[in-house]
Amino acid sequence: MSGGPARLTVLAGPTAVGKGTVSADVRRRYPWVWLSVSATTRPPRPGEVDGVHYLFVSPERFDAMVADGQLLEWAVVHGVHRYGTPRGPVEEHLAAGVPVLLEIDLQGARQVRATMPDARFVFLAPPSWDELVRRLVGRGTESEEERERRLATATVELAAEPEFDHVVVNDDVTRATDELLDLMGARVAPALPGRAG
Ligand code: 5GP
Repeated sequence: MSGGPARLTVLAGPTAVGKGTVSADVRRRYPWVWLSVSATTRPPRPGEVDGVHYLFVSPERFDAMVADGQLLEWAVVHGVHRYGTPRGPVEEHLAAGVPVLLEIDLQGARQVRATMPDARFVFLAPPSWDELVRRLVGRGTESEEERERRLATATVELAAEPEFDHVVVNDDVTRATDELLDLMGARVAPALPGRAG
């Protein structure tokens, strides 16, 4: 890699398909890939760390970020909370030649396609619908009402698969992560400016 601007990769897919698990695997095994930290108005779940998993912000702060043009994209997800990608850190990492991964919902992916058409769009798909339902129920962190809302969202999201450049089936996390990194051309650490070698 020359150290010139890197390409942005967007990972989307239905709820509970395992985007978060794949992202965590990227963070652990491919630390040279930078994962964007989204702003959200949703409260933290147990174990989630502000500034690491999300920037947990008030609705007023989110409004200000939108008004200031600080978000590359944003959306209301599952009809409740707002989530958005802070623009500055994404642009800075890309300019420095660092591969950047956005793990966002479908509405956000469409916004990025409109504004950054050179980005690479990857759809993470479940092995089957039954498996998706099993993962959603198995997680057990949402109420019945929330689960039904997420399944309704997932039905719509699954239909969007043809809009994407690539489809990765999440049958096995390690395998799916490796396939994603192959698509990004980022299985090996890029040579960054100022780094020896
Ligand atoms: P969760 O609340 O389970 O962490 O995430 C819910 C959904 O929000 C996931 O589908 C995730 O991809 C999406 N999401 C997370 N961050 C962003 C973001 O910055 N923008 C958009 N559009 N969606 C996001």
